[in-house]
Amino acid sequence: MQPDAQNATTGPKGPLEWGQINFLHTTDTHGWLEGHIKEQNYGADWGDYVSFTKHMKKKARKLGVDLLLVDTGDLHDGAGLSDATTPNGNVSNLIFENVDYDLLTIGNHELYVTEIAYETFGQFAKVYGDRYLTSNVQIINPATGALEYIGAKYRYFTTEQGLRVMAFGVLFDFTGNSNVSKVIKAADLVQETWFKDAINFHKPIDLFVVIGHNPVRPTVSSSTFGTLFSAIRKARPDVPIQGLGGHTHIRDFVVYDNKATGIESGRYCESLGWLAISGIKSSTCKADHNPKGVPHPTKSAIPLASTGTATASVSHLPTSTTPSTLRYARRYLDWNRLTFSYHAEQSQHYTSKFDIPKGVAVTHEITSERAKLNLTNLYGCAPETYCQYCKPFLTDGNIFKLLQTALSTVVVNETRKDIPRLIIINTGSVRFDLAKGPFTYDDSFIVSPFADAFQFIPDVPYSQASQVLGILNAGPFQKKKRDLSTENFNFSPVLADRDLCLDPPMTHSYGAMGKRSYPAGRLIRRQSTSPSPGYTTKDDFGTDGDDTIHTAIPDYDQPNDLQANASFPTDGSEPETVDLVFLDFIVDYITDALAQVGGKYTEADVSYYLPKTFTTNSYLPAYAKIAWQDNVPNCPVGTGIGAADKRNVEVVV
Ligand SMILES: [Zn+2]
Ligand SMILES: [Zn+2]
Repeated sequence: MQPDAQNATTGPKGPLEWGQINFLHTTDTHGWLEGHIKEQNYGADWGDYVSFTKHMKKKARKLGVDLLLVDTGDLHDGAGLSDATTPNGNVSNLIFENVDYDLLTIGNHELYVTEIAYETFGQFAKVYGDRYLTSNVQIINPATGALEYIGAKYRYFTTEQGLRVMAFGVLFDFTGNSNVSKVIKAADLVQETWFKDAINFHKPIDLFVVIGHNPVRPTVSSSTFGTLFSAIRKARPDVPIQGLGGHTHIRDFVVYDNKATGIESGRYCESLGWLAISGIKSSTCKADHNPKGVPHPTKSAIPLASTGTATASVSHLPTSTTPSTLRYARRYLDWNRLTFSYHAEQSQHYTSKFDIPKGVAVTHEITSERAKLNLTNLYGCAPETYCQYCKPFLTDGNIFKLLQTALSTVVVNETRKDIPRLIIINTGSVRFDLAKGPFTYDDSFIVSPFADAFQFIPDVPYSQASQVLGILNAGPFQKKKRDLSTENFNFSPVLADRDLCLDPPMTHSYGAMGKRSYPAGRLIRRQSTSPSPGYTTKDDFGTDGDDTIHTAIPDYDQPNDLQANASFPTDGSEPETVDLVFLDFIVDYITDALAQVGGKYTEADVSYYLPKTFTTNSYLPAYAKIAWQDNVPNCPVGTGIGAADKRNVEVVV
């Protein structure tokens, strides 16, 4: 753990089930390798994970079973450790590489920017060799000018216990990549000769493992797992298929048929996926299907029946027609040391010491890199936790209420400071909650990593300007693409395409799928300590997947756009005209909205309200320097997002 992080106070509900083969799955880590410094549930760092994986690998050997470590991509863009370097990931990738993964694959965030794509190809992929899989992603080799696969197309291997595995790594049909790479669509991939040959490999296959930066639930529009599953199942009706996916940042588990399931393991080093399978038939596998001294997987894979409008996700897919001997268990672990040490201890009767030297070294490396990158530089002390979704829009504790105040305070052009202004930003410019406690350079990346500048149209009639917000909020979510010229960005050009794995709108508007959580009242409490707020997951196996039982965090819809005003007449009257200030990212939406109410404005009327270097990444730090100077530098930390109590927690040093 980092010296300024906290440990969890509520732990796992019980020991993990261990099967013949087991998986630990990370995905969408997005640079959060220091852990969540101000959230108890997610306080572990990458060094703790290094120690944990070593313990679990040892335990697997002792039990006589297999354990595979899998990661499914998106390694940066989300936290300071990855995003404060140029290019992103320069430091964080080296730290990430301390985990000895068995299978990895590429995310869309590795492909937006050419320099990062080349780094992934030339450095990161080479560290893992044939364990880094990119079945459908190619890049132009700068040395030869020829298209090459970034990693291996497939990996056929035999596990330590003798299970014969064919693995693929498939990115969803992503189109926002820079022009040096090529993403082959899943529908085309499954027609390729090499892929068909790999499915019908000349050596026996006991298990297909399909990993992908790709939602496992086939009804999610960006998912291509249905296509991949269908191709394999049609050719190999009886071979088990295991999917491990990502990109939508949720915990999820899907049953495709009685021998095929898929797991997705969250985001941002909040979640660690655990999957155990027994009953895979193999003439060479010597693993124990019911290892001694631990619980075993008990669930059969039964596809959910079709239920009217929310049609079962797999009803259109082919299915295995023979009975299954497979048993499954899945668990979503919270990313904290209490969880890691609990399962390591449960798993390791012969050791009382959780930390291994390599894990400690990685923890120290993260601490020193955070200091070198100035990530701990303090702008101010956030007096409360402000969340994106856990409170209704513009109520106390809602981040947009805070941002409204911040925008009014610091988005000021000195030469026009007395002119009334409306300031409009898109709520999608915020990426994460702001937790109570020190607000640092690191947090400026976490909360609002985008670098959109403030433009304006001067002297717009108030009668027109005042209608813009309503028009924007009635329109579509603003996720248009813009060009990738780096002058538009300070540090994070990869975030130009908003149609990415951001949480809004992807995890917040599943439509027919409904929200993937249950109200707290339906939880079965199995421990005496009162649960803390956190994940309450519902998937195809039900509601028992979360390793630590939590109360649900409310999830309120938020509008597309937020408006602040400043320098309005003090007598409460309406101004004649205002400066209409907005993010350059949404300029087209603004002029379109004005046109709808009779305002004829073109790009020629638009100019920068503040220097282009003052961006969405700047205004909250600027506000913190003004408004959050109480309790600096000894700033009390809260317990995390969704916590109702306002008590302070002593920082564990
Ligand atoms: Zn992601
Ligand atoms: Zn993604």
